[in-house]
Amino acid sequence: MGKIFHVASNEDILGGKVTDVYFTNVIKALRHLDLNPYVAAEVRAGSLPEDWEWAVFAGLEESLRLLEGRPVDVYAMPEGTLFRTEETVLIVEGRYQDFAILETALLGFLCQASGVATKAARCRVAAGERMVISFGARRMHPAITPMIERNAFIGGCDGVAVVASAELIGEKPLGTMSHSLLLCVGDEARAFQAFDATADAYIRRVALVDTFQDEKFGALTAAEALGDRLFAVRLDTPSSRRGDFLKIIREVRWELDLRGFREVKIFLSGGLDEHDILRYNAYADAYGVGTSISNAPVVDYSLDIVEVEGKPRAKRGKMSGKKQVFRCPSCEESLLRPWDEAPPSCGCGEKMEPLLRRYLEKGKLVQELPTPQRIRNYVLQQLSGRELKAPS
Ligand SMILES: [Zn+2]
Repeated sequence: MGKIFHVASNEDILGGKVTDVYFTNVIKALRHLDLNPYVAAEVRAGSLPEDWEWAVFAGLEESLRLLEGRPVDVYAMPEGTLFRTEETVLIVEGRYQDFAILETALLGFLCQASGVATKAARCRVAAGERMVISFGARRMHPAITPMIERNAFIGGCDGVAVVASAELIGEKPLGTMSHSLLLCVGDEARAFQAFDATADAYIRRVALVDTFQDEKFGALTAAEALGDRLFAVRLDTPSSRRGDFLKIIREVRWELDLRGFREVKIFLSGGLDEHDILRYNAYADAYGVGTSISNAPVVDYSLDIVEVEGKPRAKRGKMSGKKQVFRCPSCEESLLRPWDEAPPSCGCGEKMEPLLRRYLEKGKLVQELPTPQRIRNYVLQQLSGRELKAPS
């Protein structure tokens, strides 16, 4: 079957076809001059989107697959590391012509994955222990859904909604029911009972309660129809009701409690971001987050040559020479230092540790790549104790 969707294939990407044409121009000129210098190029972000003070480094696994088997060395922070502006996250070293046409794809992998993982991490920080599920696949091209949801998961989402994404990360897909079931059946109680009778056992019984009636009455209908089996009621925020949504949730909680359904949780979805989560935490127990994660702003990394033939050389405005990021294991302070410098001591007295390590040696993978679950745990560990700055 020929290509029917508008996406690049693995071969297109690995073959350097997904490249800005100017790199092919550069290579032609270098060949003409018979130049193919050995360079070190660093990936870093000079700024971060919105009001982010930190971001999650993600997209490393795909980047390594892109560069594997080529005559280059790659150093990077472990995937899932929280970093700040100006910190080197990845270094490629090799003869320039051997990797120049891969820059577009390399940055694409890193920029989007890191944006998604960071937005998910911010939702995680906002939600605390409450459940957060990635619901935003439908807003993005389906070809990249598994990539998006893998990074939403490593950033801190508890689960993903799409079957193919769940397969990629080795989790079970999570979801509730759609309005379409209720519309097809025409009767809420009957639809809830049919869902309960047929959904896989691991799926928690969450009833969508805003189809035909006010959320308050819908929640009571669900609680009466499913009794103890009802895990949560889900309220899908229409943006038109944004203003009084907190009041509606409070009312639903009140009515459920009053009738003895204290165990029934409240699950919110529909156009939420980390700031909405902070607002609704008073009454909500779980969130489905869509577009704000799947369409997260990208981290604007750039790739810049910082050494040519072993000598520091960089364009104006960039610090030349390879750099290591040292981090303090106890207070998490970090420092950017020349690559070969011995680990400095932190202000707190602790010895700092180098964050960038070698992943590819002459194209050969020399580190074991962690599972999404391990990367996620690493992210959660770094998120603990963090708070979001209140929106300005
Ligand atoms: Zn320290």
